[in-house]
Amino acid sequence: MLPIIETIPLRQMASGDILNLQVYKFINLKSIGDHPGKKVYIQSNLHGSEISGNAVIYQLIEFLSNINDDNLWGEIWLVPLCNPMGVNERAQHFSPGRFCVYEGKDWNRIFWDFAKENYDLLAFAQSQLDFDLDTVRKNYLAEIKSGFLQKSSKINSQAGLPFTEIFRYQLQSLCLDADYVIDLHSANNQGLDYVYYFPNREDAAKNFLLDYGILLDEYDGDAFDEAFIKPWLALESAFASLGKNVRFDVEAWTLELGSGMQIKADSVNKGVLGIKNYLVQKGVLQIPDLIIPESKSEEMLFVSSSKRKKYCATVGGMIKSRVKLGTVVKAGDWLYEIITFNKEGKIPRIINICAESDGLVYDLSINEAVNQGEFVLGLLEL
Ligand SMILES: [Zn+2]
Repeated sequence: MLPIIETIPLRQMASGDILNLQVYKFINLKSIGDHPGKKVYIQSNLHGSEISGNAVIYQLIEFLSNINDDNLWGEIWLVPLCNPMGVNERAQHFSPGRFCVYEGKDWNRIFWDFAKENYDLLAFAQSQLDFDLDTVRKNYLAEIKSGFLQKSSKINSQAGLPFTEIFRYQLQSLCLDADYVIDLHSANNQGLDYVYYFPNREDAAKNFLLDYGILLDEYDGDAFDEAFIKPWLALESAFASLGKNVRFDVEAWTLELGSGMQIKADSVNKGVLGIKNYLVQKGVLQIPDLIIPESKSEEMLFVSSSKRKKYCATVGGMIKSRVKLGTVVKAGDWLYEIITFNKEGKIPRIINICAESDGLVYDLSINEAVNQGEFVLGLLEL
């Protein structure tokens, strides 16, 4: 099947040039109607240096272009290079791209969260108690869309909006009505491959066939995945407080695939495979002879995001050696050594740093020269 390709103007630059988004929409038209299929939204490169997701989307475009309409039930929207501002930013060889420098904001902490609007969720839940889940979902989505329209329509006002707001409304307008959202990132340093998931979605997280899953047990709704799912989790909680336990088939995932400024084949392949398997399990891809390797999901390691511990340089200096990515350490085990120089007429010294707790090394700084207080490595405390 061939995608519908839509090019969406995003921003006019001072030079007059226009930055665009481009969406590849694979849609089985037969699955739109009374009993529609699911809508999947996948984007990549929201942080400028985190490029591996673009290669994942390229492979997905290639794969989906070679299946038949009947192999897809629903629609899949793919947006590679979803942040052209971040993608194109350079500091010599390096691609910082994590912040909107002009506004001083992290590109992935700017999104609109309906759950933060002044909206009486409990009253809404109360009014929906007798409806089936599909109807509740439709009614709630209408509320979200109406809230979104009120805010986003200011794009066309005379006063205009700061670019991070224009940007967030553009991206969120593409996925507000999606069932599943997948945001493809990587470490902006050197990182392992893992998936961030939300409470009560552990089983589905296993479908990505990755070795590690990090539960977002603390989140404020400003990140892309959070902004999408938080209103639905809030509604589930509102129902629970009324004695009704429901779970909407609405999911948001952030896949972290490898390292910054690099496209590692292994990370890309894992991402493609995991997404394909997820879509098969969700019934979006219906390909009888699709071969997905045996799942190792029972071996997947789950850790809460509050267990992420950053080790920052206790002195300025040069990291001489360090544990390898993926190492499991015990409290007291060696993590890294740093050469610290001085301007006191003395010989340089070596400082060794050890783990404060048991853990898995999942993130390493890309720069081995560090000022005091800079990130050296990330440990998932076990
Ligand atoms: Zn990122």
